[in-house]
Amino acid sequence: MSVNQCSVCGAIVPQYDTIHSVSEGHGDRLLCTACFNQKMARHAGLDDFAEVKFEPIQLSDANGAVHEFRFRSLLFGDKLSLEAFDATIEEQPSGYRFQILGDPLSDQFVLLGKLIEKMRRLLAVAHVREGDFGLQIVDETVRGRIESDGGEHSLGPCVVIDGRRVEWDELGRMLMPFEGWQFKLEVRDPSEEI
Ligand SMILES: [Zn+2]
Repeated sequence: MSVNQCSVCGAIVPQYDTIHSVSEGHGDRLLCTACFNQKMARHAGLDDFAEVKFEPIQLSDANGAVHEFRFRSLLFGDKLSLEAFDATIEEQPSGYRFQILGDPLSDQFVLLGKLIEKMRRLLAVAHVREGDFGLQIVDETVRGRIESDGGEHSLGPCVVIDGRRVEWDELGRMLMPFEGWQFKLEVRDPSEEI
């Protein structure tokens, strides 16, 4: 996992634990989440806010594969965003990601409990499986995340389904058993449960 240095405290932190902050006078800076939250708490007048650091946990997906999740809390004014990152898979973009929003001054362990419940629910569902002709859609619903394919010139999309990266062309091929069927595409904020 790639590491980065916080431009305020100098800490070396993994990439998921950083945020780009753009402000007048400082330009674009890379901050660790702890420094970002301190800055935001001051700005929002939340003197009582104290960030809780949670230990990584391991959870199994629907196929029995174990994933290690690391957490970060990010303060957005009157909302605290608690996010879980799948640290098991190196290839980017891939891996599960989960997010929940809560009140920054409420008990952060209660928020963590809610996030873990959500993670268990979502990890229990497999949307795709390996078939004779590559990946196949298991049922009639696919949930996932839209990402950039990282191409140097193209900046095209790819998606992450069941924590694995699926190329745009591959998604198209997976839809062909449904040729002639209708579909409905909805996009939702990362914190919503779909
Ligand atoms: Zn820092």
